[in-house]
Amino acid sequence: MGRKIGSRYTAHQILGRGSAGTVWLGEGPEGAVAIKLLREDLASDQELVGRFVQERTALLSLEHPHVVGVRDLVVDGNDLALVMDLVRGTDLRTRLERERRLAPEAAVAIVADVADGLAAAHSARIVHRDVKPENVLLDMQGPLGPGGAHPALLTDFGIARLVDSPRHTRATKVIGTPDYLAPEIIEGLPPRASVDVYALATVLYELLAGFTPFGGGHPGAVLRRHVTESVAPLPGIPDELWQLLLQCLAKAPASRLRAPELAARLREMLPSLAGIPPLDIDEPDGDAPEDAPEGAAAPGSRDYPPAVQADDTPPRGAIPLVQGAKPDSNRDTHTSMRVPGPDELAGGAHGTARTPRAAGERRAGSARHRSAAEAMRRRRIKLGTVGAALLVAVGLGCWLTAGDGDPDDARPGIHRTQAP
Ligand code: ADP
Ligand code: MG
Repeated sequence: MGRKIGSRYTAHQILGRGSAGTVWLGEGPEGAVAIKLLREDLASDQELVGRFVQERTALLSLEHPHVVGVRDLVVDGNDLALVMDLVRGTDLRTRLERERRLAPEAAVAIVADVADGLAAAHSARIVHRDVKPENVLLDMQGPLGPGGAHPALLTDFGIARLVDSPRHTRATKVIGTPDYLAPEIIEGLPPRASVDVYALATVLYELLAGFTPFGGGHPGAVLRRHVTESVAPLPGIPDELWQLLLQCLAKAPASRLRAPELAARLREMLPSLAGIPPLDIDEPDGDAPEDAPEGAAAPGSRDYPPAVQADDTPPRGAIPLVQGAKPDSNRDTHTSMRVPGPDELAGGAHGTARTPRAAGERRAGSARHRSAAEAMRRRRIKLGTVGAALLVAVGLGCWLTAGDGDPDDARPGIHRTQAP
């Protein structure tokens, strides 16, 4: 006997655990279903339950072959459950972990499916806001498509927005991963459809490269890279595919393709990608110790493929975080967390702005000066951490509240469905 969920469903066996709750294999009047039982602290929040019910119509109305359908929302005593179509297979993260990198054809086929699903959502004025490999399910019972890829379905529409309220996130904990966050979210603009396109392009890059374009290290560093850095080229990637990636990873939302265009362009490209093996790219370095000697990898830094210095390719460079500071020219410097000094945080002495791992910095000073230098270093790290935390908090704060902003947003959050 399974666990009863409302009057119509029975949960039999755990399929997986996620951040919002546990997903069960269950049964309803129409057969097998997947039931996501939300975490207790979420289910006991009356306001959240209210919003859940409010958004019920939007969630239930989204039907598409590449979207995991939501069949029902059950509020029953302490249980808050989302009844979904059962997808027999695995999620894209699991596949990526197994294979490290996918062949371009399979990667593009999967991402084209997801882009189709997004296109349907966007036309219903629903922004997903949490596109990442964990939220793409691969239907192993579906027909094999190009590159041997099973049909891909996007799941968890609207969940990010419901669950990621500040009350459900400890102040010190960053929600999920910032790897897929579009720069405009970090800058506090309301999330529109183009944030999903950016996130999906990030997923495509990750499927091809084995790592995301801006991930690694401290979340604050990741956020900064989204805003200031250009994407490192992937050696061996077909040019047409690279151009498409660049366009969808554009910092300016208006420069990105829309989801239906992205899906169409990817599908057009598929025949030319047949038979191309996964790209041969160096794995990013793992985390190196913070006090690694000069020349060693910085914490979270990655061994990116060498930048192609074609005339029309801008060098991988970053706008300095501190106004007036020298722009970082060495790409290694901004794949590690840059810790601003107290003078920089106070807005002065820009001329002395440090590069993060300036040569000999840590070894400088005589024995007499060492403890003072150490104390200063600690203070800098402390202040830097506060600065980074503020950056993260401001960015996320804006992000979390953004969906409640201007009701005239062209592409608002899921709660604003098209007027009937
Ligand atoms: P969360 O988004 O709350 O972190 P997930 O949606 O990732 O949780 O679900 C956790 C696990 O349950 C995943 O590993 C996924 O494979 C599985 N799962 C989620 N939804 C379904 C579904 N509709 N059908 C089958 N398995 C699912
Ligand atoms: Mg999920």
